[in-house]
Amino acid sequence: MSIQIASKLPSVGTTIFTVMSQLANEYGAVNLGQGFPDFMMSTELTGLVNQAMQDGFNQYTHMNGYPPLVEALAIKAAKLYGAQLQAANHITITPGGTYAIYTALTTVLQPGDEVILFEPAYDCYIPTIELNRAKAVPIQLSFPNYAIPWDEVKSAINARTRMIMINSPHNPTGAVMSAADLQTLASIVKDTNIIILSDEVYEHLIFDDIQHQSILRYPELFERSFVCFSFGKTYHCTGWKLGYCMAPADLMKEFRKVHQFNCFTCPTPPQVALATYIKNESAYLTLGADMQAKRDYFRTLMQDTPFTCIPSHGSYFECYSYANFSQVPDKELAVTLTKEYGVATIPVSAFYHNGQDNKVLRFCFAKKALTLEKAVEGLKRLSA
Ligand code: PMP
Ligand code: GLN
Repeated sequence: MSIQIASKLPSVGTTIFTVMSQLANEYGAVNLGQGFPDFMMSTELTGLVNQAMQDGFNQYTHMNGYPPLVEALAIKAAKLYGAQLQAANHITITPGGTYAIYTALTTVLQPGDEVILFEPAYDCYIPTIELNRAKAVPIQLSFPNYAIPWDEVKSAINARTRMIMINSPHNPTGAVMSAADLQTLASIVKDTNIIILSDEVYEHLIFDDIQHQSILRYPELFERSFVCFSFGKTYHCTGWKLGYCMAPADLMKEFRKVHQFNCFTCPTPPQVALATYIKNESAYLTLGADMQAKRDYFRTLMQDTPFTCIPSHGSYFECYSYANFSQVPDKELAVTLTKEYGVATIPVSAFYHNGQDNKVLRFCFAKKALTLEKAVEGLKRLSA
């Protein structure tokens, strides 16, 4: 007998990141799909984790996070963004940014609530909204500059609107929100009960001398926000799955009620290591310039291919259009490039609820120069 259950996510398959990474492995392709660096993280930091384990930090730490790390994050937020946060009330360490987003949505959403988000959207957003029996209200970013159409946001707001999700620097497009965007958002939500979820996992991966417009800079927005971060992105250790959430005290109190019965607490050794390593400000303050150099190198290499660049200003990613040389669906082209040209990418239609296909692929440039060169060698065989 096979026991049946009703699927909570009937129209969801396997995430595109796993699909493309598996295909890349199967065909021995260079993987510019799933977002992760292929270079070594700081050996000073790995050394500190070893040290923490040898020093006996191997048991549960506080459910809100290892206290010295949480304190250090409050100091960092004050220094970078002028935010006045109390470690005890406003910050919780989570097993990754995805979990922080999941917990924030689960904390807030009641069945029937509406959540406005922008597409292309990171792929966990809509399924998490739907698991909570709420309704996703996707609004498409303008194409090809991926700006937020604020007039559409205003028209989409109604009495059921519970949250607005933003993500800057943006995955998959590398678009970055401006101060004017944040001010518009503040004016739209003023005098409403709308909660903001701000996904800022790429806060330090920002280029072209642009300043990251964290919600933490805007007290009138922070008072209604959950702000989600990832150590994986900041320290080149995506496999650590460690992040954190910042929110005002009342919201964080409810967030912790959900968190304490889900994972309860995160691994102690990396938190102990980070509590020391986070004091090295240059490790994150130089990150934007380092990653911008990779973006620029990749962009130069890509000039020898028929792809058209859609400029990225942040994140690990840059999108490229192929509309001028092929009209095949982007998922089909991504598979062909992996199997026949040795390069895995992510088709951007995967980030639209309706599979909208603008003939754009996402490339991860957080790679060694040699990896980028090898990938582009394969792509050069494409003809315009
Ligand atoms: N949000 C965005 C936009 C991301 O790209 C990612 C991950 N890559 C996450 C959240 C989740 O980060 P984590 O791996 O820490 O769960
Ligand atoms: N965030 C990464 C990306 O966008 C991957 C995360 C994942 O594999 N779920 O590629």
